[in-house]
Amino acid sequence: MNLFELTKSLMNIPSVSGDEEAVGSFLRDHLRSLGWTVELQPVSENQNNVIAYLNERPRVFLSTHIDTVPPFIGASEDDEKIYGRGACDAKGIIAAQITAAEQLRREGIEDIGLLYTVEEERTSAGAKAANEHPLAAKCEYMINGEPTDNDLAIGSKGTFRLMIKTAGKAAHSAYPEQGDSAIEKLLDILEDVRHTKFPNDEFFGETTVNIGTVEGGVALNVIPPRAEAGLAIRLTTPKEPIFEAVKNVVRDRGEIEILSCSEPVKMLAVDGFNQKVVRFTTDIPYLTNWGQPLLLGPGSILVAHTKDEFVLKQDLQEAVGLYTNLVNNLLARTA
Ligand SMILES: [Zn+2]
Repeated sequence: MNLFELTKSLMNIPSVSGDEEAVGSFLRDHLRSLGWTVELQPVSENQNNVIAYLNERPRVFLSTHIDTVPPFIGASEDDEKIYGRGACDAKGIIAAQITAAEQLRREGIEDIGLLYTVEEERTSAGAKAANEHPLAAKCEYMINGEPTDNDLAIGSKGTFRLMIKTAGKAAHSAYPEQGDSAIEKLLDILEDVRHTKFPNDEFFGETTVNIGTVEGGVALNVIPPRAEAGLAIRLTTPKEPIFEAVKNVVRDRGEIEILSCSEPVKMLAVDGFNQKVVRFTTDIPYLTNWGQPLLLGPGSILVAHTKDEFVLKQDLQEAVGLYTNLVNNLLARTA
C-alpha cells in the first residue's frame, strides 16, 4: 500500500476516542504483513495501543495517536490534497511514519519502533499506559507526530484545565434580597480573570486563557443557587504561579476544581530543520520513559479538529523524507 492509500485506508476506519479497536487491529495486521513484531497493549476493554518493532533493541520510535475527534468524516481527495477526519491529525502522520520506517528498513536500519496510542484527544490514557511498557526503557529518542507543518517543534505549551464554581442561595426572583446569585458572583470572577495578566515565558510565549464553558441557574424567575465555568489555560510556565494567580482572583468568592494539568515541554532541537514552538499539547508529557522527545508532522493544526480537515499530499511525501533524516541523525548520535 502506498503512502496515500495507507492514509485513506486508516482514515476510512472510524476511530473517535473510545472506539479505536478496529483501527488498532488494522494496523497490527498491516504491520505484521510487512514483517514487524506487533503487540497490542490493552488500555481498556476495546482500546489497544499498537507497539511494533523489528529487533530487540529499538532505540528510536516514531509515534502518534490512532484516535480522532468526532465526527467521523470519510476520506476524499483531489490532485493536491486528502480531505477528511484524521487527514492530518493524525492518520496521514501514521502513514508517513510507516512509509519512512519501511524506507529505513530497506537501507538496513532495524533499531526502530512504532508506537500508536489511543485516547490522545481526551485523557492521554493510552500514553499513560504506554509509559509503563518495558520497551520504553530501550528507547532513546521518541519522534512524536502532530501537525506542525513539517517544522520541528522544540517546545509545546502545557494545558491547565480547571472549573470555577460559585454557590449562592435560591429565592424568588421578585425578592432578590432574600437570595444570593451564584451567577453574578461567577460573572465578577470571570471579569477579573479576563483582566488578569498571567506570567509569560520568553521561550514558550504568551499564557492564554479560554473560558470554554459557563453553566448555572435553574430558571429565569429563580435567583441562581449555583454556577460554574470551565477554563483551559495554555501554560508557558510551570502550573504553580498560574494556579496562585487564579486563586488570588477567585479568593473566597468560589471554589476551584483542577481537572488536569500538563506542563509545557521542551523538545530536542536538531540542526537542519525549521524549528518553532507550538501552542497545543500532545501525548509527550505522558511518555516521559520513552527517551528524549521530538515533535514533527505534516499538516496544519489550524485545520485539525475542523470539518475541513485536510493534508497536502506533497506535505505527506516531504514528511517521509524528514522522518527518515531525523531517525538517521538520531541513530548516528547514539551509535
Ligand atoms: Zn493529534
